[in-house]
Amino acid sequence: MNSRIKLLSPMVANQIAAGEVIERPASVLKELLENSLDAESTRIDIEIDGGGCGLIRVRDNGHGIDADDLPLALSRHATSKIHSVEDLSHIVSLGFRGEALASIASVSHLTLTSSTGKEAAQITVEGETLSPTVTTASHPRGTTVEVKDLFFNTPVRRKFLRTKKTEFNYIEDIVKRMALSHFNVAFRFVHHNREVFLLQPALTKAEQQKRVAKLYGSHFSNNSLVVLAQAEGLQLTGWISPPEESRAHNDLQSFFINGRMVRDKLLNHALREAAKNIVPEGRHSAYVLYLQCDPNTVDVNVHPTKHEVRFSQPRLIHDFVNSTIRNVLAPQSHVMETAAVSMAAYEYRVRETPATYNTSFTPTLLTDDEVLGKAIGQFKKNYLLTENEQGLVLIDLVRAQQALFLWQLQQPQPLLAQPLLLPMSVQLAAEAVEQLLELPLDDYGIELQRIGEQQLTVRALPEILQQSDVQVLCEHLVKADDVPAAIAKFAARLPREFSKAEQQRLLQQLATVQAEQDISSAWQIISLPVNNR
Ligand code: ADP
Ligand code: MG
Repeated sequence: MNSRIKLLSPMVANQIAAGEVIERPASVLKELLENSLDAESTRIDIEIDGGGCGLIRVRDNGHGIDADDLPLALSRHATSKIHSVEDLSHIVSLGFRGEALASIASVSHLTLTSSTGKEAAQITVEGETLSPTVTTASHPRGTTVEVKDLFFNTPVRRKFLRTKKTEFNYIEDIVKRMALSHFNVAFRFVHHNREVFLLQPALTKAEQQKRVAKLYGSHFSNNSLVVLAQAEGLQLTGWISPPEESRAHNDLQSFFINGRMVRDKLLNHALREAAKNIVPEGRHSAYVLYLQCDPNTVDVNVHPTKHEVRFSQPRLIHDFVNSTIRNVLAPQSHVMETAAVSMAAYEYRVRETPATYNTSFTPTLLTDDEVLGKAIGQFKKNYLLTENEQGLVLIDLVRAQQALFLWQLQQPQPLLAQPLLLPMSVQLAAEAVEQLLELPLDDYGIELQRIGEQQLTVRALPEILQQSDVQVLCEHLVKADDVPAAIAKFAARLPREFSKAEQQRLLQQLATVQAEQDISSAWQIISLPVNNR
């Protein structure tokens, strides 16, 4: 008798998997962009036609795929990103399921062309053909994936698509979110042969702000409040619109966990609760928020599209996000709630915070007025005058910056190395070159390479050193006993003008430093108390 139970053909199995992951053209693009970013590309070109149903082409300059691996890249459960179940517990790449390309290939006409820097090769899958052949091709280092005629063989899925304009909007949204979470990558986005936007790598804060303005509008970037909080190995940074700038739509809302865009119920709840009674009912804040946490504490393998996550300590995350955002949106309500306006009282509260955060969780974000006050203005390039509960305070900007940088350098995950657009060379005595190479500079985002007996190139620097003269920097570091202290001192040494927004941001950051470290305010040089008599 014929068995009734049969194994599905790989083709059908892939199409079923595609049903979960590939909902619409934008989902294809998301998977392709994730692959390009995982391949450490620094430039990604995106071209689409017909709302993505006609053509989606993504070209990157990443590490590429070996010709021999091309067929594997298209098979299901084939990935270079994880190897064992244990790897699932600390995923740092965007992809890991090894099924995106196989799924996409099963519902489209897909061509994959790639080169690891030597020869290039190409593979084409035409929906049904399951043993595609690899041919030679011409392609610089990197990968191009071309997806045509999406859903040509799955009419049901095609029927669910909306108009081309709507599908385009979904696609544009994905590109924007990817660009907001990967500032170091250049993106070019073309629709119907027309450039929608071109984004250069944004390495400095000013460039990042410009990218945000391009993607979310200059109104948002000029008016939004800065978010910066750190506690319990968690960090929340980004921007959020003030309550009076709330919107009728919830379209400008992006949340990233460790660089991955998510739409998570727990986080949405935390944010909605934070806005309650502050942002008018039925209105929405615009935000771009980045949560950094230990990858071990967040499970991204919950849903095929990887939009939802599961936290090992959901309560902690919820309360951290909730109270941080609440404090940013309504500093006053925070002050009233706690009735703790003086620094001494605040410090007491921080130290007394219990280890479990079931009821009241207090992140170390202080409102400006509580500790360092409102910026009144800068005097010359050296001083910042502020006003707080106690009175008038004069801050030494060089010392303040130095303390802030030192604190950043001492964090468990210190500053990221940001590649220089062009590596810069430095001449030093041979002995000095050796001394420098022995210092743990990598740990602080400084990447050097020896290229001669008396010559080095600087390949990457943390953001705080991006504008430095590398020759002078290296000469300074040779003499360093304490590397982070020397870096902080160097990065802070030149006084400069601060914009109003930068002044306020600096105050906010200093408040965090002051609350985290029990340090007396080295930067505070004069404090004139107001007599309340
Ligand atoms: P996953 O990303 O989950 O590993 P995919 O099906 O998306 O699975 O991709 C399969 C494999 O193909 C990846 O693990 C990677 O090795 C390779 N790959 C796909 N796209 C690229 C790319 N743009 N650059 C380099 N390698 C790629
Ligand atoms: Mg992938």
